[in-house]
Amino acid sequence: MWVVAHPDDLEFSSAGTVKKFVNAGKKCILVQVTSGDRGTGDRSFTRETLMATREREEQEAVRRLGMSEVIFLHEGDGHVMPDISLREKIVRQIRIHRPDVVITHDPFRPYAMHPDHRGVGLATHDSVYPTARDHLYFPEHLEAGIEPHKTAEIWYFGAESPDIFIDITDTFDDKIDALRAHESQVGMRDDLVDRLRERSAEIAKDQPFELAEAYKSVRMNR
Ligand SMILES: [Zn+2]
Repeated sequence: MWVVAHPDDLEFSSAGTVKKFVNAGKKCILVQVTSGDRGTGDRSFTRETLMATREREEQEAVRRLGMSEVIFLHEGDGHVMPDISLREKIVRQIRIHRPDVVITHDPFRPYAMHPDHRGVGLATHDSVYPTARDHLYFPEHLEAGIEPHKTAEIWYFGAESPDIFIDITDTFDDKIDALRAHESQVGMRDDLVDRLRERSAEIAKDQPFELAEAYKSVRMNR
């Protein structure tokens, strides 16, 4: 289960990994915290029309990657707070979908960082441990038949010292295809492929393959 701040965060950080996992028969789910409803310089958009456009684009990207589902939490773009109310929404999805691994922004990366990325990373970390695991957090879930869930591992993307490198050489084109679904953001940029290929090769520089996405893994065996 991926939990990300904005439409296209999944695709930039992880689309090659998603496609690889989907091809291997794994179930991949996206929890989309904001709908990127302030992310434009185009004055013909309102927040409402931008939200509708970006959710449509995200649904198309998810379809291209073969993910099972996308859930929109509709937090305000740029207004994410890692508070107990956001945690309740993330915990609910973790308890419903019962992932083996939750993947999100690294909130512990130093200094320059989008506040929504930090907020979503932190809220997701706190949702996995201890909140989703212990039944006295949000007992209304249990009353609705949604059981607590213990996630084995968190993976962070955007980490300073990653320890998991996924070979995306064969799914790099799928990553580009998913990114191009975000027409309002990246669809028209023609240097996109070269820049991403360079970045993916840089991440893979010490690996026995050409292109990679990387994560910092944390085992949650408490
Ligand atoms: Zn973002």
